[in-house]
Amino acid sequence: MRLGFHISISKGFRYVPERALSLGCDTFQMFSGNPRGWKKKLISTEDVEGFKEGVIKHKLHPVIVHSSYLPRINSVNKDLRKRSIASLITEIKRAEVLSANYFIIHFTPKQEEIELFKDGLSQLHSEYTKILLENTASSRFKVMGEVLKHLPSIGLCLDTAHSFESGYDLRDENAVRDMFSEIQDFIGIERLKCIHLNDSKTQLGSKIDRHWHIGKGYIGEKGFLNLLSYPGILSLPGIMETPVTSECGNAENMKQMRHLSNMAKAL
Ligand SMILES: [Zn+2]
Repeated sequence: MRLGFHISISKGFRYVPERALSLGCDTFQMFSGNPRGWKKKLISTEDVEGFKEGVIKHKLHPVIVHSSYLPRINSVNKDLRKRSIASLITEIKRAEVLSANYFIIHFTPKQEEIELFKDGLSQLHSEYTKILLENTASSRFKVMGEVLKHLPSIGLCLDTAHSFESGYDLRDENAVRDMFSEIQDFIGIERLKCIHLNDSKTQLGSKIDRHWHIGKGYIGEKGFLNLLSYPGILSLPGIMETPVTSECGNAENMKQMRHLSNMAKAL
């Protein structure tokens, strides 16, 4: 499995590939600007070129951009919705300038906001960069399918912590099989393009999003092995959005994930 982390862009895009390489990444994810602000700094040509050169030189693939936190395209507040759509259009343009392969948006609508969300998504277009919808700690894939069936160009990103927190018990092989059957029936498994590999600090069905170190949370090693040994999953990119704490950092999580993916390969 091609593995990577979410990498900080704070020093400039051109420093991201080296940073990814130093963490042992084959692929990586980043933001296209400050994730907590609406304003985006201009990206210099020098920064774009340095970034692209590094990506090629270090054979980092795919390049994944995660949307910022503020946009709410399903908001019932019309002004916020308009601003959110405009902001995502800008972020997608920035992802394209950086030749990103994927752009990830969280699936945030409540049941009554699904139409608004679908309408917002239908206004986002990209040529090179493919848009992916990511499940959250309260998403059901069946409900995501209600949106995705109308937008065939959009793919899916599965976050392991979010799946577990929304009630899919990855520790149970049968539950993993059922989850993928649900994805197949309501979305189509071929639309799954990326896995976010995070353990969960909260219990099954908690609906509370807390990422934790691989194998050290409630999902545990067995949960990851169940997921990774499902046919086709090892061919997808796996991005860790794990914390760095005094007891465990990126190096340990990468080592653990490599070990688990090798084990799954041998099964
Ligand atoms: Zn995620």
